[in-house]
Amino acid sequence: MKNKQNPHAGVLYIVATPIGNLGDITQRALDTFTQVDLIAAEDTRHSGLLLSHYGIKKPFFALHDHNEQQRSAVLVEKLQQGQHIALISDAGTPLISDPGFHLVRECRQVGIQIVPIPGACAAITALCASGIASDRFCFEGFLPAKNKARCDKLRHLENEPRTLIFYESTHRILDTLNDMAEIFGKDRYVVMARELTKTWETIHDDELSQLITWLGEESNRIKGEIVLVVEGKPESTEESFSPQALQLLQALSLELPLKKAAGLVADCFNYKKNALYQYGLDHLK
Ligand code: SAM
Repeated sequence: MKNKQNPHAGVLYIVATPIGNLGDITQRALDTFTQVDLIAAEDTRHSGLLLSHYGIKKPFFALHDHNEQQRSAVLVEKLQQGQHIALISDAGTPLISDPGFHLVRECRQVGIQIVPIPGACAAITALCASGIASDRFCFEGFLPAKNKARCDKLRHLENEPRTLIFYESTHRILDTLNDMAEIFGKDRYVVMARELTKTWETIHDDELSQLITWLGEESNRIKGEIVLVVEGKPESTEESFSPQALQLLQALSLELPLKKAAGLVADCFNYKKNALYQYGLDHLK
């Protein structure tokens, strides 16, 4: 698809790179690096080593969190002039707790074509090995470093029913887990995925209080890069039924078998039959 406003404009490629194991680069990523004119990267020295590992040499352009807004304008100008550019981050998928959002937004606003080249992302890699519900999840990235702000954020998430995914650093992991245990409850189930795709990859699951104890037993267990996958708060079936539905269930269950009554009410109010039947068994008999 050509840019309608400027058919000579270049393309911005958003290219994921490995999160540890260099074997996780994709063929499309390597082809893209070879084809583009310029690579925008967070740490040009780090990314230079990555590319030289694959035998590719390209000019770099530094794009960090703290200079992204000003530097994006320069990149947009280069794209408008017809240069093809790949955006990468130090590891994983750009924009995911990494720079790139402002650049992509500006490119969209001026009609520059953006092509994503998917690949590794630590959050998704951890989630898919966690055994915690993966049908609905929310990615929270890094929690605030300051204690009060972190606790405020956790309180805000306390009742979130979806699986929660956090990035965390080695030096804050114990504080974060202790805050979570206090706010989410000691028995909230969590998976700590450390050093994914690397030699010391460890994926450990436990209740928050047990995980804190386990980490305290051996300092090596805290080292490296960490993703936390936290089970969402179990949804309370009682809370989710309206008073009208429960009143009807009670009335019908005096005249009909509970299963039949629960089925009728579930159809009327669009609830799950089994959940309503279970409520009836627990509360009406
Ligand atoms: N954009 C990256 C992605 O797609 O996952 C994330 C960049 S963010 C600046 C870095 C954080 O991601 C680390 O502090 C850690 O929480 C997580 N992370 C990155 N690589 C990891 C790995 N191999 N194992 C576990 N966590 C990792």
